[in-house]
Amino acid sequence: MSTALADRLRRRIALTGPITVADFMLEALAHPALGYYRRAPAVGAAGDFVTAPEISQMFGELVGAWLAERWMAIGQPARIRLVELGPGRGTLLVDALRATRGVPGFHAALDLHLVEIDDTLRALQHAALASSGRQAHSHTRFEDVPDDAPLLLIANEFFDALPIRQLVRAAPGWCERMIGLADDEAFAFAVAPGPSPLARLLDASVLADPPDGAVIEVSPAALSLVHAITERIMRQRGAALIVDYGYDDSSHGDTLQAMYRHTKIGIFDRIGDSDLTAHVDIAALARAVTQAGAAVDGPTGQGDFLRALGIEQRAQALRTRATPQQAADIDSAMARLIAPDRMGTLFRVLAVRDPLTPPAPGFAVAGMTCDPSSGPMP
Ligand code: SAH
Repeated sequence: MSTALADRLRRRIALTGPITVADFMLEALAHPALGYYRRAPAVGAAGDFVTAPEISQMFGELVGAWLAERWMAIGQPARIRLVELGPGRGTLLVDALRATRGVPGFHAALDLHLVEIDDTLRALQHAALASSGRQAHSHTRFEDVPDDAPLLLIANEFFDALPIRQLVRAAPGWCERMIGLADDEAFAFAVAPGPSPLARLLDASVLADPPDGAVIEVSPAALSLVHAITERIMRQRGAALIVDYGYDDSSHGDTLQAMYRHTKIGIFDRIGDSDLTAHVDIAALARAVTQAGAAVDGPTGQGDFLRALGIEQRAQALRTRATPQQAADIDSAMARLIAPDRMGTLFRVLAVRDPLTPPAPGFAVAGMTCDPSSGPMP
């Protein structure tokens, strides 16, 4: 299906030549009028994908407990910026706030900042927070969040929406994969003629002996964002929690995909109407953190993380006051979040902290739990 955005991109390529995969993603997702994330609330059962906080209140509650623990770990500062990148419908924050209202001093210290490009979602986020009696500041970019207090940051399914660039192994070396036009004006992949300087950003382990035609992905946008977050944490103290589907080994091939109404479609099929994402190279994000001098916890699978934070105990507490149908829903939501063949393994969790702060809960220490105060029924 040709969309208005597809026609624009075709004209652009015809005039100025093939574009990078990152340019293509940026237009498809963030074009000011026609981009996917500028036009429609895509998150939720009626949209194109369902995220962890929309599956169960337990996700946001446990993340809330994690954030409160980090606040305590850095000495309970009287004021802290709580930033969410891409808050979707605002569900995670609402659940996190409800679960932590019993933590003395925490809510009074919080100054909420939302980084969001979609105006419709911004309005939903403010409405959701208002119903919890909170106000927040919205920004288009993380860099616009004031930098004069410690930082707590959460990003769930945000990094997968950032543009990636792809490199293809060819005779001259790693060359950039481009998007051009075939003779019939259809979009088609092409390979830039010379090696790309981006190969410098790749981990040494993926450079050794790749087969011809191998594809690897680099996201300069994700790397520079993680670098900016880490620099703030180093300057002002704090912590960040990044959750996204991705891989830990930096050599995963082509992961660019389009989703339309819960179905995978071709990336050129409905440009601007479909969500375009790539798996996140979690190892590359972790390297960017340690290069900037901060410490990482993880990466670990979402299942192990949520279990370590006490999701099973939380589900048990919710079940005691549930009808049989509600109890079954709690169990199936938990399975969806933690089972290895659902979101438990594919979704990776990475935390950032300044080196003075002790390791975060949720990572690899068996038996450590952090049970949030009880909240209302689902
Ligand atoms: N975290 C939410 C939503 C994930 S979807 C949840 O878990 O439900 C991705 C979110 O990031 C959406 O809110 C989308 O509008 C926003 N977004 C995507 N690209 C963005 C960008 N470049 N800058 C700011 N927000 C962006």
